[in-house]
Amino acid sequence: MDRLELQKLRDLPIERVAERLGLHVVRHKALCPFHDDHHASLSFKVSRNTYRCFVCGASGGPIDLVMRYLNKGFIEACRWLADEHNVIITEQKCTVGSVPVCTFDASRYERFFERPWLNDEARRFLFDERRLDARVVRWCRITSWKDRQGVPWLQTPYYDREGKLVGVQNRNLVKGATPRFRFPQGSRCSIYNLPVLNLLKAGEPLFIAEGCSDCWSLLSAGHKAIAIPSATLLSRKDKELLKQLGDSPRGIQFHMYPDNDVPGERLFLQLREVLPSIERHQLPPGCKDFSDYYLNTKRPLLSG
Ligand SMILES: [Zn+2]
Repeated sequence: MDRLELQKLRDLPIERVAERLGLHVVRHKALCPFHDDHHASLSFKVSRNTYRCFVCGASGGPIDLVMRYLNKGFIEACRWLADEHNVIITEQKCTVGSVPVCTFDASRYERFFERPWLNDEARRFLFDERRLDARVVRWCRITSWKDRQGVPWLQTPYYDREGKLVGVQNRNLVKGATPRFRFPQGSRCSIYNLPVLNLLKAGEPLFIAEGCSDCWSLLSAGHKAIAIPSATLLSRKDKELLKQLGDSPRGIQFHMYPDNDVPGERLFLQLREVLPSIERHQLPPGCKDFSDYYLNTKRPLLSG
């Protein structure tokens, strides 16, 4: 984990983290889970992103709150936070200060995506649960594997615009397992599905999704789409790349279905800062994200 990633976790809004843990927050206060409390002694300071109990003295930021509440060590607490809030963290230390000391070894991974292979768990996930179009799965070169413990993983390649493999995302296919995602050393999993830009015709809309799976649903619905990795924070590099695309002489018209929640709305506003002409589409009420909407548009599975 690098410093920026750690900062992302420290910046997660403390009250949202508390709610995610199951605390009931009302007017910046909650019952303290660390002593027998009846008076909502735990208070949150939003400006400093901290919590403090005036009775038992428990205090700290989001990471401390998770460590203490779930009785986890530092790294485990960071993994939990990252998983719960869709923040991507790399497991290995890849920089000293800001100097990269290791890079992604694409040659080790390229061959996996030359002949993608989907195990039963992956097929269930992609085709039964997500109802994705098989052509999309092939285009994205999604593959799967099992580790030595027999855990099934979905493996998603990230390519740059020229089709060079720049990163790999592994998703644990066991429900509720942590960590949900793993990234090989040095993976650059920033903006997903950049090669689609080469297929984009003049005037054709380009959708921006939140995460790969929403991107696959958009593609399966017949749209051209790219994805940004996390709703929580858009990195400066991602912003620069999007701005470049927005400023390109071909004039790409960006579209988005923001997720029907506060982070989704926040992400849309962040994107509009870099892409002022981005067009907003509203998901129908009751659909939390595009994948959800896409599933609702599909007819029920027919047997036989
Ligand atoms: Zn207390």
